[in-house]
Amino acid sequence: MIFSHFFRHNESRGKASAAGQGQPRHVSHREATAAGDAVELRNGAVPHSGRRSHDGTVNSEKQRDIPRDSIQTGAPFPPLEGSLVGVDILHFNDFHRKLNPSQDGRVGGAARLAGLAEKTRQEFPNSVLVSVGDVANGNGDPPYGCGAWDEGVRSFEPVVKIFNEMKVDLLELGNSEFKDPSNNYESLQKGLISKFRGEVLCGNVERGPAYPDEHALDGIKPYSIKQLQGMNVAFIGLVAQDMATRANPLMGFGLAVANLDETLNKLIPEVRAKGADAVIVMAHESFNGCVDIAGRVSGIDAILAGRDHKQSPEASEVKAPDGRTTLVTEAGSHGAFLGHMRLVLDSSTRSVLRVEDRLMPVDASAPIDPEVQAIVDAFNRNR
Ligand SMILES: [Zn+2]
Repeated sequence: MIFSHFFRHNESRGKASAAGQGQPRHVSHREATAAGDAVELRNGAVPHSGRRSHDGTVNSEKQRDIPRDSIQTGAPFPPLEGSLVGVDILHFNDFHRKLNPSQDGRVGGAARLAGLAEKTRQEFPNSVLVSVGDVANGNGDPPYGCGAWDEGVRSFEPVVKIFNEMKVDLLELGNSEFKDPSNNYESLQKGLISKFRGEVLCGNVERGPAYPDEHALDGIKPYSIKQLQGMNVAFIGLVAQDMATRANPLMGFGLAVANLDETLNKLIPEVRAKGADAVIVMAHESFNGCVDIAGRVSGIDAILAGRDHKQSPEASEVKAPDGRTTLVTEAGSHGAFLGHMRLVLDSSTRSVLRVEDRLMPVDASAPIDPEVQAIVDAFNRNR
C-alpha cells in the first residue's frame, strides 16, 4: 500500500475545512476517496482515514499488536524551493521503558529507535528529537515495560541514560512519570529531571499545597523556543489534567495541574510575543483530546499527542477557531514508531505554509545504536 501526501498550501490556510476540504495526509489512494466524502466532525476535525474512533473513549494505555501491514512509511518529503525552509521534528511518545524489541523481536527496541533517530538526523541534520511523555516503567506487567516494575528513582533507569545517549532534545512529562505508587516528587526530580541533559517541559503543572516552595518546579519549563533553520519554533509541553487524580493520591505530588486550554491561551500569545514563527504543542493527552483542543484553541500549527498509544495513519487536520489548520498526530507507543514531522515555512514571510508528518516503523530494518545496545545489555544482565 503506497501512501500519498496531500499538501496544504498557503492559499488553503484560513479557508473552510468543511467536509473533505481539510486535506488528509498519509491516506492511501483507496482511503482518500472515503476521506474526501467524510463528514465534518465536531470541532471541524476531518477524519484521516475513516478508521478513527471519535467517541473519545480510546484511552487504553495498552500496547496493541500493531498490524504491521497497515502502517507504512510516508513518501519522502518533496524538495523545498525558493524561500521555503523545512524544520524537521523527530517524535515519539509513551516509550514506557520498552528497552527490548517485542512481538517476537519484530517491533521496537531502544537500540533500534536510537539508531533510526540517528540515521534520520544524519539525513536531516537540523532536526530536533522529542519525547511526548510516559517514559517510566510500563503499565505494571512485563509485556509493556522492561519486564520488571521498578519504583521511585529506579523507574527512570536506564531510560534517562539512553535518552541522553540519543541526544533527545525535549522531554515532555507524561502521567506515568507521576504514577508510581512509591514515587514522590523528589524521585522524579532525582531520577529524571535533574539527570536529563535536554529540556524538560510541562506547562500546566503547578505548585500545590505539598510543594509550595518557589523552587518546586525547578528544571521544568513550560515551553522552549528553538531556532531552527533561521525560524523560531516554540514547543509547549502539557500533561493531561486528570494526571493528579489518576495518580496515587500520595503522588499527585501535592502538585496542581492546570486546564490545558487555559494554559495554551496564556502561553501561545506569550511565545508569539517572543517571536515564535511556529507553535508545536507536545501534549500528553489522548489523540481525540488533542483533536478537540485543536478545534478550540487558536495559534497552534501542530499537536504531538500521546497517552492513548495511537499511531498514524490516524493523523487529523483540524480547523482551528482562527482559521488555520492544525495537524494532530501520534506515534504509537513503546518505541514501535518514530515520527518525522516537517514544518514548511516561507523564510521571507516567516509563516508556516504546511505541516507534513510521516511515521517510520522501528523494526529490524533500523540500524542498531551500539552505545544504547550496551546500556540495554547491561540493564538486562542485572535484572
Ligand atoms: Zn502511556
